[in-house]
Formats: sequence, structure tokens, C-alpha cells
Amino acid sequence: MKGPSAVGATPEARLSNRHGSRDQNEGSKGKMATLQITLPDGATREVPSGTTAAEIAQQISPRLAKEALVARADGELIDLSRPLDHDVKLAILTSKDPDAVQVLRHSAAHLLAAAVIDLYPDVKLGVGPPIETGFFYEFLRDQPFTPEDLEKIEAKMHEIAAKDVPNERKLIPKAEALDLYRRSNQQFKCELVEEKAIEPMVSFYTTGKFIDFCRGPHIPSTGRIKAFKLMNVAGAYWKGHEGNPQMQRIYAACFVDQKELDEYLHKLEEAKRRDHRRLGKELGLFTVNDLVGAGLPLWLPKGATIRRLLEEYILEKERQADYEHVYTPDLAKVDLYVRSGHWAHYHEDMFPPMDLETEQLVLRPMNCPHHILVYQSKKRSYRDLPVRIAELGTMYRYERSGVLSGLSRVRVMTLNDAHIFCTPEQIKDEFARVMRLVEQAYRDLGITQYSYRLSLRDKVNVGKYIANDEMWDLAERMLREAMDSLHLPYTEAPGEAAFYGPKLDIQLADVMGHQETYSTIQIDFHLPNQFDLGYVGADGQEHRPVMIHRGVISTMERMVSYLIELYAGAFPVWLAPVQASVLPVSGKFEEYAKNVAQQLKDAGVRVHLDDRNEKLQAKIRDAQLEKIPYMLIIGGKEAEAGTVSVRHRFKGDLGPRPLEQFIADLQQEITTKAIDQPPPAEFGSEKAAAGTKAK
Ligand SMILES: [Zn+2]
Ligand SMILES: [Zn+2]
Repeated sequence: MKGPSAVGATPEARLSNRHGSRDQNEGSKGKMATLQITLPDGATREVPSGTTAAEIAQQISPRLAKEALVARADGELIDLSRPLDHDVKLAILTSKDPDAVQVLRHSAAHLLAAAVIDLYPDVKLGVGPPIETGFFYEFLRDQPFTPEDLEKIEAKMHEIAAKDVPNERKLIPKAEALDLYRRSNQQFKCELVEEKAIEPMVSFYTTGKFIDFCRGPHIPSTGRIKAFKLMNVAGAYWKGHEGNPQMQRIYAACFVDQKELDEYLHKLEEAKRRDHRRLGKELGLFTVNDLVGAGLPLWLPKGATIRRLLEEYILEKERQADYEHVYTPDLAKVDLYVRSGHWAHYHEDMFPPMDLETEQLVLRPMNCPHHILVYQSKKRSYRDLPVRIAELGTMYRYERSGVLSGLSRVRVMTLNDAHIFCTPEQIKDEFARVMRLVEQAYRDLGITQYSYRLSLRDKVNVGKYIANDEMWDLAERMLREAMDSLHLPYTEAPGEAAFYGPKLDIQLADVMGHQETYSTIQIDFHLPNQFDLGYVGADGQEHRPVMIHRGVISTMERMVSYLIELYAGAFPVWLAPVQASVLPVSGKFEEYAKNVAQQLKDAGVRVHLDDRNEKLQAKIRDAQLEKIPYMLIIGGKEAEAGTVSVRHRFKGDLGPRPLEQFIADLQQEITTKAIDQPPPAEFGSEKAAAGTKAK
């Protein structure tokens, strides 16, 4: 559909003409062309050529004009002040649009540079893009920026913002642009103009005295930039190449309003408070030792207790769900992985093989091939199916050193793994059973916020995957049908599939809203073929089973790291490494305190007796710091009456109770897996909530 102005012009001609055509129109006075503007609701408007998006916003409503940050014309972001010269689909964007927020952040980066140039005129400018939660700008300067400098810069930014300085676009001939930067000694900018300016005229933006080679677009003026905070300075080589000059990047958080910024800063604080690496150390859960190696954590007694409880929990749930548990070795001959396809498709994530005299062994990156051989260890009939083989399988992945982190990204991990071998008709039912297991486990662990993601193959980068379109389509269809029959909503993620098939991932978000896969279900037609798996059907013929890979509570490493952060180290009673601490007020009551501790221990409670020669207040403080659920205070009255004075880590003093009653109550709390703290609001981030289960 061409508008009047487009008559006789091909789209290409209009495109290449875009910036020059206004002058042509002005040249033919009186015959000003009319443009047809199509708005997002489908409504159209006729406006003279040269009208700006800002003017159209004003026509729509003064309020929209006030809130507008930038416009989208035929999918491309443009300045509100850019004159329109051809028919377009036009959207006026406010801070409700994520792209517009990124433009705001980009403009804020210019504001930062404007402030820095004003205060430190000798700095050399690098680049300054928006980032996910704000922006950075990089500078070359002999002295490091100090926290005091950042304060000054931030104040200057507010000063310029308050003046509502316009961001203006200028087109400058390339030679002039280079000259301008040469004269102001901006070597990096010269480099960028040389490399990036491909047209004779170069786009620049000015904010007061500050001028920047920039494609834009930008918001109209600095007045809208209010909610930002300079966070930190980080070193970065120019263009990321070692050997290049070291730039100082000033990072900032920036949001559309103060409320959003405050929420973000609060989340950051919470993330620090809950950081599993810090808490793991403080609470004595795990440690990483350089002599052992990065990504190879050592589980300390308290962390090991939590892990063992999780393991026992999930093994029991699986036993109830008719899984059969096996033990298989952590390594195997390379040949096994050649057969499975791991060698061809997963090689880079595996450790190099060990050369022995007659064979090559390699640490396993997944447990699937071993379980396949367990299935094959005897002849199977349709009456045996489904066969559910489970193992807390330890596996090894060559994660690059840069990504290793605490327990969440490691090189050795133990997965709550299982492989279900079934007929195609049984897939849907098995899928639903796995989902029920996941939901029950999450409920018992107190995990309430999660979302479903259908992870598909990347259709462009197909080399990563087994080539068999028919198989992929079938597995994908079965996953969709299984999800739909459970009425579960999901998002789709191309490029996240396993190399042998698509999968359904269950995603948990951390405090900052970053998602990771914890549970997964995969339908696999590939490996059964590779290993020529079979079962004898009711017809007496040999048939091929389907394989379902599934992990319910992820790896022990990843789940414990998640739980540490979810509970900020204060585990629910059933998982707490120490459930009760007995605190005698003085040595006089040691005998009774020992007796209390012994009775608790006999009842299966994990108890600690704090018989240090310390004041009661100090003992209480330390038990609180260790986040022990119950403190039992023992003094004269208690010893005499056979009671304990109960103090709860969150609820404080609960008063005296007969010991037997306390034990009975505690056991009740343990068996019901009660959660004694409300789920933290931070874990209900919008990102996680968006995909969260509807019912
Ligand atoms: Zn820019
Ligand atoms: Zn598997």
C-alpha cells in the first residue's frame, strides 16, 4: 500500500532518499506531499511531509506528547524530532516500551559523558552503550575515578538534567568530524569514525557542549533522566583487546523512575545478603580450595547434611514412584560416547580423555549412556515397560574458569537423574508423573516461583544437533501435547535443546530475576536408535522404546545453592543442619542441658549443646547468626520443672514448654516439612512471575 508521496518511487529509492527528500519537498513549495501515517491501532492519519513524530504525538494527545521518549517507524527507532518523509507505520513510545527505556539509558550515558567532560576536560572518550539495568561510559584518564569523583559526577549529571538540555542530532561531513575529534585529541573517537562511518555524512548528537559520534536515537532532552545511580568503576581494555589502553568504565543503574531504581537497588542488597558463596562460607556449608581446584567444592559437614537430606528425600520419593536405583561408574571408554553422539556433539564440554595402555577412558558428562546399558542388561518385554532407572549420578563438565561460581557453576556435579524407557503410548502418562514429582518436590522445598520453558533446537545453527527433522518434529509435538493436556503455560526458547532432542525446562529465578534451569524432561528418540534398544511387544515382535531423560531437583550443587539464597541461609527445620541449640545459662545447669540434648538426639533431632563459658546473650546471638531454628534456654526453673524455654529464630521468645511437648511439636514440624518464613518477595520477580503457573 503506497501513499501519495510514494508514487513512482520504489521502496529502495525512498529509503536511500530518506534524509534528503525533505529539502526536495521544500523546494517544490505549495505542492507539499502528504504522508499516510499508520498508527499501532491501525488508524491512519494524513500529514504533510516533514511532520515529526513529536508533532503527531501532540495531535494524538498532549499527554502522549509529554510522555513520549522516542518513536518507532517501520520497526526502526527514530528521534521524535526526525521529520518524516514517507508513509510509515508509526508508534510513539513511552517508558512503558522496553526499547524506549534502552534509548533513555543510552541518553543517560551521554549525560554521564557530558558531566565527565565538564569536570575533567582532558579525558578521552570511549563508548557508552545502554546495558540491561542501566548504562556505562568508558574514559581514558591517568588518575582512577574515586568514589568522591563519582559523587561529583552524579551531582553534575543531575545539574545538567535539571536544565533540560536538548539532545540534538547533526549530520557532519566525515572529514569535518575527524577534524573535530583530532583537534580535541579524542583518539578513540577518531578511530570509531574511521571504522564505522560508511556514509559521507556522519551522525552526531550534542548535549550542550558535549558532542558524540552516535547513530542514536535519543530522547528529546535531558530532563527526563532522573532515576540513576553511578555504581562502580571497572577497568576494560579498549575494544576488549589486551594490550590496548585500559579504559575506566563508569557503570550506572538507570530506570524510568525513582521507584523502579529503588526496587532494583533493594534487590541488589538482597542478592548480596543472600549470596550463597558468602553464606556458604559464613555458615560453614562448603569451601573451595585452590589446591583442589576451581569449580570443585568441598562439602563441609553442615552443607553435607543438607545435601544428604535432599538426597534421601528424593530417593524416597522416587522409590514411591516406582523408580529403580542403580550405581554406575563415573567414567567410561570414549567408545561409549562415540556411540551415544556425545563425542561428536558434546565434546567441548567434556574433560580430555585419559590414555591407558589399551584404551581411552573419559569422565562422563552425562549419565544417559550408562543407564541405557543397564536397560540393555537383560531382555525386556512390553510387560516390563515403563522401566525407570534412577541414580544420583556424578558427572563432570569442563566449564571454563571464567564462569565457575560457588556451588552454582561447578565442574563436578551430582544429578538427581533418571531415564524412563517406555512405549510411545506411555509418554504422556510418564510425562505427567514426572511433573507431579517436580511439583511435589518444589512444594516440600518451599519453591513457589517457577516457570516452564520449551527448549527447542536452533534452526539456524543446526550443526550442534542430531540431524533428523522428523524425529525433532515428533518429539517437539509430543512435548507440546503433554504440556497442553496438563494445561500448563510455557515460553519457547530456540537454541536451548539438548543435542539429541527438545526438552521441557523448569526455570527458577534468583533475586535479580535471572533464570536458570533446575528441572528438565526430555523426550528422546535418538539414543534408543543409537544403541539399538528394543523390547518384545504383545505381538511377539521386537519394538523400539522411547527414552525420557528427567531431573527433578537438579544437581545437588545447584539446588543447594538455590536453597541457600531462597532461605538466606535459614533453612526450614527439616533441612536445617542444626535444628535446635541447647543453651544452659551457666555451668550449674550443664547436667540437665546434657540430658535435654541427649533426649533430643535420641528423638532424631539434630542438636547442638552450647556449653561454652559465655553469657547467655552471646550464645543467643551466635545461634541467631547460625540461623538455628530453635534455641532452648536452660536455667534453674527449667531444670527443676523438666521444661525448656523455647526461643525461635524469627518469632523470638515462645516461653517455657515441657521437653516432651517440644520434641513432639518439633517432630511434627519436621515430618510436615513446615516452612517457618514467608517466601521472600524478591523471589517473586516479574520475570519469574510472568511465566509462572496459572493455577
Ligand atoms: Zn551514543
Ligand atoms: Zn539423560
